[in-house]
Amino acid sequence: MSQGIAASPGVAIGRAFLFRPEELDIPRRTIGDSETEKEVARFHFALDKTRQQLEEIRSKSEKEAPGGYARIFKAYIMILEDPMFLDEVHNEIQNSKSNVEYAVMKVSNALIELISKLENEYVSERAVDIHDVARRVINNLLGKERVNLSSLANEVIVIAHDLSPSDTALMNKNKVVGFATDVGSRTSHTSIMARALEIPAVVGLGNITQLVKTGDLVIIDGTHGQVLINPDEEVIQDYIIQQTEFLEFEKSLDVLRDLPAITLDNYSIELAGNIEIPEEIESVLRHGAKGVGLYRTEFLYIRKQIMPSEDEQFEFYKEAAQAVAPNPIIIRTLDLGGDKFASYLTFNDDANSIMGLRAIRLCLQRPDIFIPQLRAILRASVYGNVKIMFPMISGIGELRQAKVVLEKVKMELLDQKIPYDPNLEVGAMIEVPSAVMIADMLAKECDFFSIGTNDLIQYALAVHRVNEEIAYLYEPLHPAVLRFIKHAIDAAHNAGIWIGMCGEMASDPIITPILIGMGLDELSMSPTSVPEVKKLIRSLTIKEAREMAEKVFSFSTASEVEDYVYSETMKRFPELTAWISLRSH
Ligand code: PEP
Ligand code: MG
Repeated sequence: MSQGIAASPGVAIGRAFLFRPEELDIPRRTIGDSETEKEVARFHFALDKTRQQLEEIRSKSEKEAPGGYARIFKAYIMILEDPMFLDEVHNEIQNSKSNVEYAVMKVSNALIELISKLENEYVSERAVDIHDVARRVINNLLGKERVNLSSLANEVIVIAHDLSPSDTALMNKNKVVGFATDVGSRTSHTSIMARALEIPAVVGLGNITQLVKTGDLVIIDGTHGQVLINPDEEVIQDYIIQQTEFLEFEKSLDVLRDLPAITLDNYSIELAGNIEIPEEIESVLRHGAKGVGLYRTEFLYIRKQIMPSEDEQFEFYKEAAQAVAPNPIIIRTLDLGGDKFASYLTFNDDANSIMGLRAIRLCLQRPDIFIPQLRAILRASVYGNVKIMFPMISGIGELRQAKVVLEKVKMELLDQKIPYDPNLEVGAMIEVPSAVMIADMLAKECDFFSIGTNDLIQYALAVHRVNEEIAYLYEPLHPAVLRFIKHAIDAAHNAGIWIGMCGEMASDPIITPILIGMGLDELSMSPTSVPEVKKLIRSLTIKEAREMAEKVFSFSTASEVEDYVYSETMKRFPELTAWISLRSH
């Protein structure tokens, strides 16, 4: 059995098809002065043809999954139009006298190398997109047809080193029942699309292409990230049962999708999804949340080599706001720094540390970044129910400064007769201990709060959130963390504002009873967690939840709290055990 990353849940059983798309390996040919013009013209011809092909795939994708992953191909077309990419290829042809195929390969490889080195997983994954676009341009230059997965004769499980998003989009869903790849991560576009297409998939297996031959019988367990090769009959039968259970489980989620998140005694909780890219909205809605409680906009800034323009941001925000309207979307202003970098913003490492120049601190020092983002959000606000949220607020001064900039931007828009929603709510993330302690003061100057437990836990307990050596100290149920949460909730309610939570803690159904029992009004989480959390909310009364929330304050260690919460939740909701094992996170 091979263990990889669970990219898309479910079980697939079938015969393997080893897919090996051609590699980019083009010899260099030195061209004469008289040939440069011709090579540049060939380049533009190939670009046009590639654009046409991508438009075709885009409209096919749009038909298959409206509002879904088709946007990826828009991003591909943007790579084709990227002035930096075009300039570099022209340079390579004109100054280095290279043939155009080689020039495209060299420039794209340099870009791929540059971004693959970045530590941020999301950005480094974009290397695949550039590779895919370059391969298409080169194939068009060489007049080659691309091998694609749309014309398979039989049902197969595709095994590949890597699958580009366009390979995935061209998959015939009736023929490709699952896939497994050597590389990849949960945030790669291919994984996002596998989830959108609901094809079980495992990525990041390392060497699956060396272990499997075409024709082998393989089982893909996309829920647990496992691949089994030529298993015996007993194992196959076992997985057939699991497959049926999973399909029944998925069906039972459908029932929940349109039901409200209310307790047995009709107490209502707002459930929302967290997104990093607009493609995820489809998944938010499909999993039964209505709005977006956290749109992490930094991914717009790090997916490309250059800062996104105001117009470009506006398009993203507008589309996202429209997709969930009339339900709310909370757009968080840029939270760069800490563990999220953009190469074009040159930081010195120290200043960029987890306690350094990041998030709102960076924005307040860089109006050239902050103002265009605020303008874009405000402009998008007329297309839906947009709220704005500032990250990493640590004192009232920062909140006031941010609001002053926001007001200035509003005045500017007013002058320019550009519409925005005058009632747009402004909130603060509560993720720094000082913000918790002055939550009563902040609450007087905000419309809402959202608790960012991912950061709050690390700052409250002085435990870096990505340091494996001290991971055992990163305890969401630490009594200090629970007190911080309760303190913030009470402060918000005393001031008459609503409060939600958008850190990972909100995704854990075992913790749901105490979070709603403590009084949170909204929970925002990764989309796939929505059904379990909703199921739990619908299975208890607010009275029970409050009793549990009160009880946890009598314990003095995180493990006591955990034991209590776990055993109590399981005792009250025994059917949850099966739910949780079916959908591992
Ligand atoms: C948090 O800190 O809990 C949060 C939601 O924000 P991020 O994970 O993006 O820092
Ligand atoms: Mg945070």
